[in-house]
Parts: sequence; structure tokens; C-alpha cells
Amino acid sequence: MPNFETHAAVAAIASALGVAFGAARFGWDSSASSLAFLAGLAGGFVPDLDHNESKPLRLAGAMAGLGCSAAVVGYVTSPGYFLNRPWPTGSTILAAVGSFFLFNTIFLEILRKRTRHRGLFHSLAVPFLYGGIWAAMVSAAGGRTVMAVWLVAILGVLSHLVLDAGKGMSFDPLKVASEDIGASTRLWILTALVNFLAFTRLNF
Ligand SMILES: [Zn+2]
Repeated sequence: MPNFETHAAVAAIASALGVAFGAARFGWDSSASSLAFLAGLAGGFVPDLDHNESKPLRLAGAMAGLGCSAAVVGYVTSPGYFLNRPWPTGSTILAAVGSFFLFNTIFLEILRKRTRHRGLFHSLAVPFLYGGIWAAMVSAAGGRTVMAVWLVAILGVLSHLVLDAGKGMSFDPLKVASEDIGASTRLWILTALVNFLAFTRLNF
């Protein structure tokens, strides 16, 4: 199966082509183009979050830990009565390190327990769910940026699924649903909802 480096290279090429096309065809500016490229490149790793030992999973776990740790540091260093804030430097460092390991572990445990390799994460809803999440995140940036990011994000995840399909000579990674029809249906409903919300928040 294609490794981390192959997926990174293919996602980078697909995203670069997508951005070049969008810039030429729709006049995407440099900020829309760079955000779109980032979304596409990162999208190339998303399906392998279901793999227990994958680099993308460890990276995402580290990001989740860092994000939560930053939030905890921001909270305990802001003045307030609850928990006697602000905290001194030593306790703040302990809180930062502790929350990093706590949230990193929780995140990894959830994904390891709840996913199966090449299950739902390798199915056609995932590119659109991922694109919708990006579209919602950048919705304040305006219609053109949202379109750019949405399209290239989808392209990045698709590049992963297509590469897996090609290497395995099977359409399985491009399936619409897994054997777990209930979970597949919930995933598609979530995908539709996220995309609907992302795009109705826009006024073109
Ligand atoms: Zn894969």
C-alpha cells in the first residue's frame, strides 16, 4: 500500500494542479490559493487516520494535544477567581504538559477504538465531510476562498482514495458505504449537514 511519503507527494501534486487551475479559471488570489493548497495537502493524510500506527494519526493526536494544551494555558494564565488564576509559571508548565498528554491520549484512544483500517475513513463521504469542515472554518473569508478551499480539500482526500484504489486494483477505497450501513448513513447525514451549514452561512 502507498506509504506516507507517496500520499504526501501525490496530494501535493493534485493540490498544486487544482490551485493552478482555479487561479487561471476563477482568479483565486494568493491567500485563497495558499489556504486551498494547505487544505488539499493535509487532506491527503485524512483517510489513514483510521490506521492505528499511522504518522497522520500521531500527527493529528499531537495537534489535538497542542491545541487543548494552548487553551488550558490561556485559561490558567488569565486572571479570575475560579481556580485562583492566574497561576504561577511552574504550575502553568505542569498544566500545559499534563493537558497535552491527557488530550493526546484521549484523541488517539478514541480514533484507535472507534475506527477500522480501510473502513468508513476510506469511503466517498470523507472527502466531502473534510471539505465541508474546511469550508465552515474559512466561511468568514468570503465565497471565493470558501469555494477554493472546499474544492482543493476534496481533491486532496480523493487523491489518497484513488491512489489506494489504484495500488490495490480495487474500488473498495472509493466505496459509498461500508458494511456498517448505520454508521455510513450517519456519516453522510453529518457530511450533508456540515456542507449545508458551511454554505448557507455565506452570501455570495
Ligand atoms: Zn489509505
